[in-house]
Amino acid sequence: MFKNILLSNIEIDESHKNYRRLIMSNFAYLIALFILFIFFFINFFIRGNTTAALIEIFFVLPTLYGFIMLRRDKNIEKGALFATYIFFIAIIIVHFLFEFDEGITFWALLFPFVAMSLIGAKKGFLFSFVFYIIIYAGAYYYWHDSDVEVMFYIRFLIVSFIITYLLYFHESFSSDSFEKLAAANKSLEEKFEEVRQLSITDSLTTLYNKRHFDVVLNEEFNRAKRADEAFILGIIDIDNFKLYNDTYGHDKGNDALERVGEILNSQTSRSGDYAFRIGGEEFAIILQSSSSEDSYSHFNNLRKKIEAESIEHINNKPFGVLTVSIGATNVVNYKNLNIIDVYKKADKNLYSIKGNGRNRVKLSIL
Ligand code: GH3
Ligand code: MG
Ligand code: MG
Repeated sequence: MFKNILLSNIEIDESHKNYRRLIMSNFAYLIALFILFIFFFINFFIRGNTTAALIEIFFVLPTLYGFIMLRRDKNIEKGALFATYIFFIAIIIVHFLFEFDEGITFWALLFPFVAMSLIGAKKGFLFSFVFYIIIYAGAYYYWHDSDVEVMFYIRFLIVSFIITYLLYFHESFSSDSFEKLAAANKSLEEKFEEVRQLSITDSLTTLYNKRHFDVVLNEEFNRAKRADEAFILGIIDIDNFKLYNDTYGHDKGNDALERVGEILNSQTSRSGDYAFRIGGEEFAIILQSSSSEDSYSHFNNLRKKIEAESIEHINNKPFGVLTVSIGATNVVNYKNLNIIDVYKKADKNLYSIKGNGRNRVKLSIL
């Protein structure tokens, strides 16, 4: 609950550089409101200083405005800058209202911390610099004829100076290391994604590999089953490929595999369609739901497309060109079916074509 207030209901990762800024902005707004109310009560009820009390109540308005704007706009940088301005003006006004009462100067020590954590080291330092020029001038004006000791003024100067510098270095070091950490994290994530892609990709064809096939096969089967959609699987095997290698050599064989891979890729461009290389010259396709007629013609078009490439294969008789056989299943009724049965059926269909002329599609509706 309190955390939600500090985060303005904004979804932000803890490792994001604006996370701390957002929390600090809201803290600043809440503290500013708190201080304004306290001073309002002191001035109005105890001191009877109505002017001061009214000024403080007036300051509640922009503070509330900033607090609400941050929740509405969700612009963290703007919110942080606005909070800094409010603190800047509020603390200075309070100083002048209390005519630089020695006790009040403690509040001035707070400002560099608020400013730098809200708007960063450089801008925060600049704001603090201007802030202290005003405060030092005011203090001089009120103190030089009074009984405030010179030593107190000097002590105040030195302490505020040291605090500002320390905070400046602290803030720039920590934001530097934060940025370095964030950059390292990002490059690590990118490397990880690269490695992940490599681990599921077949290097020759750039299709997904067998490892990924095993995962996707299960996932897609279960997903289609839950969604009560058809599940379509095709296993594609190049005909007489051993003879192709024997005739044209292994390198030409690889070229042919790559070309078949490209065609499979182009035939599975819908999201939800997948193509895999699951063995030497064996491929698989998983298709998104479509009618069984669609799935048959989809596979048959694919077969025709590969044949139409006219990759010479004189020993693939009687076609004379490279062809494929496709065994497929289209599940419409899941009843007691499991994915192993579905895969076996597609495989069985493939081998029945292999013994029966090749270059065909056999699809079972289950
Ligand atoms: P069928 O029509 O019955 O499928 O006959 P086939 O010759 O295609 O089947 P078989 O399983 O006997 O031979 C597969 C061949 O695929 C054997 C191997 O030389 C070839 N092969 C497997 N992986 C690769 C590869 O990465 N590159 C090349 N060039 N050839 C491969
Ligand atoms: Mg083969
Ligand atoms: Mg084979």
